[in-house]
Amino acid sequence: MTNQNPFRPMSDSETFTFSCHAEVPCFNECCRNIDVVLTPYDVLRLKKRLKMDSAAFLERYVIVEWEEGMRFPHCFLTMVDDGRASCVFVKEDGCSVYEDRPTVCRAYPAGRGTSRRVDGTVMEQFVLVREPHCKGFTFGAKQTVPSYLQSQGLTEYNRFNDQLLQLLQHPKVRAGFRPTRAQMQQFILALYNVDMFRRELLAGRVKLKQPLSPMESRSIVSGDEKPLLLLGVRWLLEEYFGEYWSGSEYRKTSYVA
Ligand code: SF4
Ligand code: SF4
Repeated sequence: MTNQNPFRPMSDSETFTFSCHAEVPCFNECCRNIDVVLTPYDVLRLKKRLKMDSAAFLERYVIVEWEEGMRFPHCFLTMVDDGRASCVFVKEDGCSVYEDRPTVCRAYPAGRGTSRRVDGTVMEQFVLVREPHCKGFTFGAKQTVPSYLQSQGLTEYNRFNDQLLQLLQHPKVRAGFRPTRAQMQQFILALYNVDMFRRELLAGRVKLKQPLSPMESRSIVSGDEKPLLLLGVRWLLEEYFGEYWSGSEYRKTSYVA
């Protein structure tokens, strides 16, 4: 083991050599002893792949961490108690949910930090994580972090993950807002339990303060999960802060079916 800090900031144009495939000597090593943070879009992709109701997926695969004073809850993928804390989805031949693997798994060994400006645009900061167990740096071609992230299918993930910044980096959160237990439960319902959220909307137990757009109304009836996820962001903004953050691009968001 080395004591060197494995995190290195990277500019848009800096290159690194990397490739990960089944022949690397460390294959699957990064799927053990890790915290896999789940975004709402990660859960949406995984529960759809596994053909599960979101409540059942949460129950079986997600650990929610929250305590008073935290900004928002953190959701992690369950690990198996096999002495190596292996990911519940890792098999001998690799990740069993590869096409729908979570954001952090796609990005590794790179990372993308984001912050939202007041005009609604997103500022990115990239890092590279060089951990001793990862031998992929001795293989492959040179690439930049943005091109690597794109090659890993992160464009679609980032588009949805970035929508959360309206909430997570709302000026009132920066000024000290912290959710109550009831608001934390609303957070999990709207962002991680999309099927239950839809049922609550249909039953009229969850109500939006501002009128629904035609597309939002259709998504509730049809169960189209991507617009429902964005509707969840909007509902939380209304519930927590009573209004959109000015500069919000929520209404401009378009969807890929
Ligand atoms: S989801 Fe797949 S890639 Fe991510 S830790 Fe689990 S097995 Fe590995
Ligand atoms: S440790 Fe690195 S090279 Fe090895 S499987 Fe994981 S990402 Fe690939």
